[in-house]
Amino acid sequence: MAERILVIEDEQRITQFIERGLIYEGYRVEVAYDGRSGLAAARDNPPDLVILDWMLPGLDGLEVCKRLRSATNVPILMLTAKDEVNDRVTGLDAGADDYLVKPFSFDELMARIRALFRRSVPSSRPEVLHFADLKLDTGTHRALRGERPIDLTAKEYELLELFMRNPRQVLTRDVIFDRVWNYDFGGESNIIEVYVRYLRQKTEAEGESRLLHTVRGVGYVLREQ
Ligand code: CA
Repeated sequence: MAERILVIEDEQRITQFIERGLIYEGYRVEVAYDGRSGLAAARDNPPDLVILDWMLPGLDGLEVCKRLRSATNVPILMLTAKDEVNDRVTGLDAGADDYLVKPFSFDELMARIRALFRRSVPSSRPEVLHFADLKLDTGTHRALRGERPIDLTAKEYELLELFMRNPRQVLTRDVIFDRVWNYDFGGESNIIEVYVRYLRQKTEAEGESRLLHTVRGVGYVLREQ
């Protein structure tokens, strides 16, 4: 099955140029003309890659990027007419995987898309992570403690996945911020404590043993005791 690409861009001239080219290259393409319908399309029919314009009516590309990133690991290629370094950095901080400055050639676009697909292959292959009696399915984002299903929000899932990919390793607050929040919050924020508390409440709801431990002054670790 060909990969599906979602294009979120309000300028029809550009969407037509991209859509025709991608279809010719054998991809399946869906187009959304503003941020909200783009987010809805991504949620209803998850694409394999998103091409996202920065300047969109209503919700701008940066905000769309942050919201997509909080819910999915889909590769995001941002299009921007601005080529100041700061804007690129802002886009990458918001969770974009790459950016392309307008105007661009179709060959350039294809090169970026192929590179993103090459990079994303290992993480897009679903697997079930195990630790003690915890299971986490990276395809469906479902979690189980023993036989008990655990409902996780997108951020809780990301945090738990980070711990389950690094069992018995102490993760510092900086590493957790970097990997889960992309520095969206300042270093003074207690957001990590809050989310660790949520995860503990959910994973220990039936009186199960604690798996997420605090390492005072350093960070957190997933271990049996
Ligand atoms: Ca635009």
